[in-house]
Amino acid sequence: MKYIGTRNKEITATASEAILKGICEDGGLFIPDEMPVMDKSLEELVDLDYRELAYEVMKLFLTDFTEEELRYCINSAYDEKFDDKGIAPLRVENGVGILELFHGRTLAFKDMALSILPYLMKTSAAKNGLDKEIVILTATSGDTGKAALEGFANVPGTRIIVFFPEDGVSPVQKLQMVTQEGDNTCVCGILGNFDDAQTAVKTIFTDKELVRELDEKGFNFSSANSINIGRLVPQIVYYFYAYLAMAKKGEIRLGDEINFTVPTGNFGNILAGYIAKKAGLPVKTFICASNENKVLFDFFKTGVYDKNREFVVTTSPSMDILISSNLERLLCMVSGQEKTRALMESLSKEGKYTLEVNENIVGEYATEKETADAIKSLYEKTGYVLDTHTAVAYAAYEKYVAESSDVTKNVIVSTASPYKFTKDVLCSIDDKYKDGDPLKLMAELEKVSKVAVPEVIRDIETRPVLHKNVCERDKIKEFVKGRLL
Ligand SMILES: *Cc1c(COP(=O)(O)O)cnc(C)c1O
Repeated sequence: MKYIGTRNKEITATASEAILKGICEDGGLFIPDEMPVMDKSLEELVDLDYRELAYEVMKLFLTDFTEEELRYCINSAYDEKFDDKGIAPLRVENGVGILELFHGRTLAFKDMALSILPYLMKTSAAKNGLDKEIVILTATSGDTGKAALEGFANVPGTRIIVFFPEDGVSPVQKLQMVTQEGDNTCVCGILGNFDDAQTAVKTIFTDKELVRELDEKGFNFSSANSINIGRLVPQIVYYFYAYLAMAKKGEIRLGDEINFTVPTGNFGNILAGYIAKKAGLPVKTFICASNENKVLFDFFKTGVYDKNREFVVTTSPSMDILISSNLERLLCMVSGQEKTRALMESLSKEGKYTLEVNENIVGEYATEKETADAIKSLYEKTGYVLDTHTAVAYAAYEKYVAESSDVTKNVIVSTASPYKFTKDVLCSIDDKYKDGDPLKLMAELEKVSKVAVPEVIRDIETRPVLHKNVCERDKIKEFVKGRLL
């Protein structure tokens, strides 16, 4: 199996080359030229632990990695960094499976892929004879930056520089980043918004002169964003894991079909589920859950993708997005390269395109009120507290059931700990918290949820601030040069 571009199938790469490149030269994304199928039965997989299962799944997609290389990457990533031995534990609340993907260091599902990406990159570099130091440049609006920092911190042969909007992230998110340890990490606030940071970073990637200068000094730029197959492939694993856990808990029998509901922004998480289904996992329907930025809901309902609309700031900020990059991969899988190239051209020229997709992916969305109500009502029924992103999925799932009468067993993919969004979560349950300090409210959430404040943020307020860099948005290039040269 090899990887090909979504806009041109003549662009090919091995898995390790695709991980190093991240994106095709023409702006397309890499997809498998032929979808691999799981070569073991569900019965053979059901008793494997997370790492063993990860090997069985990932080996199908990273075909130029040796068993030794892949097991090394997996074992280095999924260890005590996770505060649950199961890595991705599944609970059943109110008859619905909830797959908790937030037990890594940064309390969001980004850890599932960003814990292993540095090892996959290092291994890929060695396989391809790349002897340069890998420099990861990342712009973040909150979750990705911290997860990338944790993933790359102290990984030999790599450095990471993260830019975040100085006044545009939550207090917990900012503290998580500026207290980051690791000799190879660098964090810098930007006097500008997320778009400014993102644009500046993209400009650096395409600055041929700078890239050459750094190449001569032994540096090779790379990116940790979700278009890299090194982020997509590790995410396929937990769909298998959740399915098998549902069977082990007696919720289904091996072979039964289940549904997944996924809180979606960039379409990376749910696409990994769709690929798991293509690889043989018995899934009936994916419910693609959006917040009020419901561009995907409209697309799956009408076939029209239209980003020309107002951007809504919601309590689920990691899903506030109008251009879902990874959707391009789905478009290509159902309609081929030529069509995809035309659709992407239409997206960049007119901000929209039309395509009917009949893949049993149903769009649903939740308003801010429905999201808050979902947190409150599940809490009152079971005592379990959802984060705002997962609550979007929960509300969307309930709407789906009401509309479809589909009683298939369902797993909700839970993408963040409620402790990351303490204030919005508590205010959903009771508005007496509305004047509380977000950091002080952690102790309140502990009382309400009866889940201890996670170790990784327990002392966040008193941890030393190690990164005090702030830079003008038009000085990012000088900042990077100053750091490396
Ligand atoms: C990134 C993120 C999402 C969205 O995931 P996509 O892969 O972009 O669809 C949802 N919830 C949380 C908490 C996230 O950090």
